[in-house]
Amino acid sequence: MSPDRREKTLRGIGVSHGIAIGPAFLVQVDRPHVPQWKVAAQDIAAEQARFQQSVMTAQNELGELKEKSASLPDTAAEEIGLLLDAHLAMLSGSRLVRGVIKRIADEGINAEAAIEHVMQELTDQFRALRDKYIAARIDDVEAVSNRLIRILMNLPYIALDSVPPGGIVLAKEISPADTALMDPKRFAGLATVHGGAAGHTAVMARSLGIPSVLGLDPDMLDHSGHGGIAIVDGVTGVLILNPSEATLAEYRARQQALQNARADLDKITTLPAETTDGQAISLRANLELPRDVQAIVDSGAEGIGLFRTEFLFMNRSTLPSEDEQFDSMAAVVRAMQGKPVTFRTLDIGGDKIARAVGAWIAEATNPALGLRAIRLSLKQPQLLIDQFRAMLRAAALGPVRVLLPMVTTAEEVEQAAQLLRRCHADLKAEGTAVPEALPPLGTMIEIPAAALSADSLAAVSDFFALGTNDLVQYTVAIDRGNDQVAALYNPLNPAVLRLIEFTLEAARRAGIPVSICGEMGADPRYTPLLLGLGLREFSVGSAALPRIKQRIRALGLAECEAHARLVMDQYDPAQITAIVEQYGS
Ligand code: PEP
Ligand code: MG
Repeated sequence: MSPDRREKTLRGIGVSHGIAIGPAFLVQVDRPHVPQWKVAAQDIAAEQARFQQSVMTAQNELGELKEKSASLPDTAAEEIGLLLDAHLAMLSGSRLVRGVIKRIADEGINAEAAIEHVMQELTDQFRALRDKYIAARIDDVEAVSNRLIRILMNLPYIALDSVPPGGIVLAKEISPADTALMDPKRFAGLATVHGGAAGHTAVMARSLGIPSVLGLDPDMLDHSGHGGIAIVDGVTGVLILNPSEATLAEYRARQQALQNARADLDKITTLPAETTDGQAISLRANLELPRDVQAIVDSGAEGIGLFRTEFLFMNRSTLPSEDEQFDSMAAVVRAMQGKPVTFRTLDIGGDKIARAVGAWIAEATNPALGLRAIRLSLKQPQLLIDQFRAMLRAAALGPVRVLLPMVTTAEEVEQAAQLLRRCHADLKAEGTAVPEALPPLGTMIEIPAAALSADSLAAVSDFFALGTNDLVQYTVAIDRGNDQVAALYNPLNPAVLRLIEFTLEAARRAGIPVSICGEMGADPRYTPLLLGLGLREFSVGSAALPRIKQRIRALGLAECEAHARLVMDQYDPAQITAIVEQYGS
């Protein structure tokens, strides 16, 4: 049956400012429905031979992959090599292969169905052992079984590598780590079923400037889009599969209008971020991947307000050494030519996973409430020591600030500060170049408890950074990456606004600066409110920076303050949204 090629419009969450048009490519990570049929006694041997043939094909495929992977950079080649070896081992005389041969005979069923049953049996047994090492083998059993099923069902293997240049990826889910691997020159757009606006996949997609729509209906995976043209509208959150000529023309015009608006915005790159009444606002940028630093330099940012160092730990199986981290950090500090760079210590856990630290984080029912960020770093202080030493060495090359993620108590800051001082003293004693004074040490305010104890945290911090992505998640108890509750993820909830106001007041009393580095700061609809509440420093993705600057340059502080007062007098989130929307963007 040929696929239905009628135009289909699906609505999701637009998470980046752009429109992409290109060939749609369905990245099928899931196993298709596996048919089961009876095999007559006289055909059992032939069915077993068909299975053995698929095993040989799989061995050849893996052998070829191994050859290809040899050209990857060292650590990646080693890691993939180990993985492929494990898969190859599973194809020779393993329980999986023996089990399938036996099942075909015992139950008189086809090979693909037998594989599915054996895979289920093995993974259930592995899960029951509750051992982390064995649990990791579940992925291998599933990967090998899926490969065999795909070969037997004659289905093409689809991976990100196969996406044509300028293609639009349709997938159930793409992890933040996989998103980090997506080259924006190659991938025009992204559309997925899972993911929320403030999850790290969204943050990453925005940072790479890949127009994306997440949280779409699973219908989009029904194959009707694969191979046709797709439109991803990251502004309004729409995915259109197989657009008509008229729709295509409409979106090409919209795409052009966005590009023109962008070109207009580029003209203000060198102008200051200043309100109409002359208040200078600090406008810095967020950085995830060191390779993107040039976009920040080009955007006219006054520095880097958040460097998420966790991306240095992703897509590899070993920890980056102090020297490796220093090299990346030094490159960023040098590129910024005297403008300050804020390095945040590792924030792994929650929806951000890195294999090298995975062994320290036990599987948890609520990973966002578990061993994440500073909690992990203080438990494994060598992580902090390596990072602090790299940061301090980079600080010899230009102004650097150090930022701690997921802080709950002043004690955590004090423990980290003590380690930072020790690293500084050690480096000096070793004769390594570091600045005479310690770099400013800041605290992320992203847990309600931290916001509510902002005065005690201000006493031990040189600056605050408001992490509204998490602050909203933890205040309204909505998982920031969960599409099912995404509509309830609301930065305008009065509880969130009060926590922001409370933090700003505590910082003002203590005389320390506060910046916002969560996505709320990158949305021009919220700029008047944030300015009116007293915020004077923003750090946003470089793609959003010109829009925020344009907004700031059109606002006066007095009108912002009046707007903020009106908003803070409300208790109904819907009413607040209406007031904020009315103010426009
Ligand atoms: C935040 O939580 O707002 C933040 C900036 O940090 P991250 O998105 O990396 O959790
Ligand atoms: Mg956060």
